[in-house]
Amino acid sequence: MKIKVVGAGLSGLWVSYTLLKRGHEVEVYEKDHPGYGASSKAAGILSLELPKEMIDVAIRSSQLYAELGKEIIRWSGSIWIPKDSELKCAINIGKYLSTKGIDVKIIPNGFNSIRICNKAILFKQPIVDAGGAINELVRRIEKMGGSIVEEGVKKQEISNSKEAFVLANGPWISELIELEGLINYRCQAHSIEGKQVNEIIENDETNYYYVPESPRRAILGNGDKTIIKGIDEGFVADYSDAYNVLEKVSKNYDEAKNMYPVNSWAAPCITTFDGYPIVGRLREKLYVITGLNGAGLTLSPGLAEILVDVIEGKYEAPKNLDPWRPMEKKEPFWEVFDNICH
Ligand SMILES: Cc1cc2nc3c(=O)[nH]c(=O)nc-3n(C[C@H](O)[C@H](O)[C@H](O)COP(=O)(O)OP(=O)(O)OC[C@H]3O[C@@H](n4cnc5c(N)ncnc54)[C@H](O)[C@@H]3O)c2cc1C
Repeated sequence: MKIKVVGAGLSGLWVSYTLLKRGHEVEVYEKDHPGYGASSKAAGILSLELPKEMIDVAIRSSQLYAELGKEIIRWSGSIWIPKDSELKCAINIGKYLSTKGIDVKIIPNGFNSIRICNKAILFKQPIVDAGGAINELVRRIEKMGGSIVEEGVKKQEISNSKEAFVLANGPWISELIELEGLINYRCQAHSIEGKQVNEIIENDETNYYYVPESPRRAILGNGDKTIIKGIDEGFVADYSDAYNVLEKVSKNYDEAKNMYPVNSWAAPCITTFDGYPIVGRLREKLYVITGLNGAGLTLSPGLAEILVDVIEGKYEAPKNLDPWRPMEKKEPFWEVFDNICH
């Protein structure tokens, strides 16, 4: 089958690569350049702190990144500090991860070596080089005969076409089709420098994550959600946010007092009211993968396989991903990471 994929972010690239591996013909359309949207900005956490059914997708994704090359993925120690009210659920997730071969340790009372007094869960978590993955996917797609056309696709082209399309254009999806319950917001992160930190630290109470990048650098993510009005507004990163997040981090982590921001960036992200992505068939010959919110690096390889199975008619996408599922409107909206314990 010949398929046109709209968008060369991680989701469009993974769908294209998966289609090519299964013998389909693929043309990828990209209005700017591969990775222009959120994908080239991703901090690199392939998060395993997810609802159970999404953990399986994330673990499959880690295998698929590993197939791209051993330099694309590495495993790091991760410290998850859940809210007290969510500890029981977090422990269950930890136990589930153990059954999947992930090394998990539960620290019930205090954790002095990093001066954090909350209860914590330690486990191995993958870190992915998002830029490296984009480059390698583009290289493989072209080598396998797929083409990347640097041209935007317009709404009329989709509605008038008899060809098969996959919409993988992230937050720009609403320019092509109206789907209920989608929300654009700003994901942001900052590079910081200072003393070496070896672990990924995520704190649900203060909404930050801290990812080691090199001996002196780390990425500091701010989980606070800012809803954006125009999509390009999402690219503006407020540098002062980095100081605010560093201040929060230093309450739990003394080393952060010696760190300083060196770079800040942001990109528009898109999510749904119920926090789950949208993956599946919209109508005949029209398929979609979007709403991956702050977890698109984590989920796009595994979800791409699910979508390609749907395209090949092997099965319908799971109900929680169905593009036409009724979206119960909640304020504030959920992210897939927030939904773990609900
Ligand atoms: C700062 C930051 C940190 C993040 N950290 C993480 C992390 O650590 N872990 C994680 O799992 N996720 C993370 N994410 C989220 C992740 O980056 C996104 O979920 C993921 O990149 C979404 O990929 P996508 O392909 O769906 O969308 P995008 O990457 O936004 O790609 C959409 C593409 O479609 C193109 N396009 C739009 N309209 C058209 C059109 N009409 N025709 C042709 N092309 C079009 C755009 O130019 C763009 O290239 C982070 C995001 C940000 C911004």
